[in-house]
Amino acid sequence: MKQTFIDYVKKMQNYSEALSVIYWDMRTGAPRKGLPQRAEVIGTLSADLFALQTSDELGTILQQLEPEKLDFVTRRLYEDVKESYDESKKIPADEFKAYTILKAKSEAAWEEAKAKSDYQIFLPYLKEVIDYQKKFVQYWGIKNGSAYNTLLDKYEPEMTTDVLDTLFGELKATIVPLVKAIQASPNKPDTTILFQHFPKAGQREASLEFLKQLGYDFEAGRLDETVHPFMIGLNSGDIRVTTKYDETDFRSALFGTIHECGHALYEQNIDPQLNGLPLSKGASMGIHESQSLFYENFIGRNENFWTHNFNILQKYSPTQFANVDVEDFLKAINYSEPSFIRIEADELTYPLHIMIRYEIEREIFNGDLAAEDLPNVWNDKYEQYLGIRPENDAQGILQDTHWSGGSFGYFPSYALGFMYAAQWKHAMMQDIPNFDDLCLSGNLTPIHEWLTTKVHQFGALKKPYELIQEGTGQALSAKYLTDYLQQKYKKLYQL
Ligand code: ZN
Repeated sequence: MKQTFIDYVKKMQNYSEALSVIYWDMRTGAPRKGLPQRAEVIGTLSADLFALQTSDELGTILQQLEPEKLDFVTRRLYEDVKESYDESKKIPADEFKAYTILKAKSEAAWEEAKAKSDYQIFLPYLKEVIDYQKKFVQYWGIKNGSAYNTLLDKYEPEMTTDVLDTLFGELKATIVPLVKAIQASPNKPDTTILFQHFPKAGQREASLEFLKQLGYDFEAGRLDETVHPFMIGLNSGDIRVTTKYDETDFRSALFGTIHECGHALYEQNIDPQLNGLPLSKGASMGIHESQSLFYENFIGRNENFWTHNFNILQKYSPTQFANVDVEDFLKAINYSEPSFIRIEADELTYPLHIMIRYEIEREIFNGDLAAEDLPNVWNDKYEQYLGIRPENDAQGILQDTHWSGGSFGYFPSYALGFMYAAQWKHAMMQDIPNFDDLCLSGNLTPIHEWLTTKVHQFGALKKPYELIQEGTGQALSAKYLTDYLQQKYKKLYQL
């Protein structure tokens, strides 16, 4: 029975991989004229996959397995598959179908609403999506005491509003005063260097060199161009990254590439015995983001890393960087200022954008916040936390696509990822006190190996709370991130 189960799961995973290749292709330059037929292919494959995921055959296999008699890997696989099987079986098929159609309409309405900066176009769809999500939570069952906790658990297992309220409370108490002090500080770094012309071809060459420096395996991946950068893991031997080139702001390609590389290194280093199984993925959204942010912020903004690698930028955009000091470059790339758009926010203000979304989601599902009131609540919170008030819906409530597709409970992962990353860094420094020397010499292998040992190799075999507890000796804490931000920004702005 065990082998029948594994064969069945591998078949489902093969369908997923085929769909992922199509998804990657569509977002990296598939010809427009082929897309209608491609949509048919996706429809057929998705329907087949859904039938496999919810079949009576799978139900019988799961019933006949005796989990306590299985080896560790197969038992974790059983739990993973059973959880998604039960979840999809709990929603009546007709409701699931209606919801899928609604989501497609809602996403289209959101796009139009954003383009016209008019929340009213999106509102009726958003209300329906929220109603469906509330109904689904009832079908799935309340987890850890509240509706919103049920949603959080889907992205970050066992995460609750109690824990988040504490962690985010501590983070907010550090960041809000820091942002105000920086605003009031007379020390403003010169940022003109960021916006000079950097040809796309050079940015691509530089991106490839940075991937090499960071240890990305090109025999198990590739770099392509896209509109919204992402990493996609097809199987452990094919983990692709994408980036976006802006000739008047190289940061989107540079930090985008480093960020996606962090995600990719995670999946390239998962234990090969999990290849072809759904456990060959990240432990949670938050843990995945901890790897991308570790590389983006703790390596990609590290002074020694730039002392070693600044010549790459000088090589590909000499007029821009030839006469610049690394020190001035670091000040420019660490420049912090309140802004409206989450994905363009700097490292310090970014978590505030997340907390605003978290508080709103929590009140939608655990309180009685109505969809009609969201723009005002949103704008009030921006004013309160960041000291700026969006002037229109596109700049405010309509900027992110997540809610149009029903992804509630996802946003906290981004800030959790940064907290996990800071805690990994702190624990790593106990084992690798010469971290900065390694960055200076360009030998990142020990850092890479540490992360593989503590995080990467396990894939989804361990839960996020197990990884952080076992890897750092304690549960997730906000302390390491608040310490890092305090130290860094007080020094940068001489506060
Ligand atoms: Zn990411």
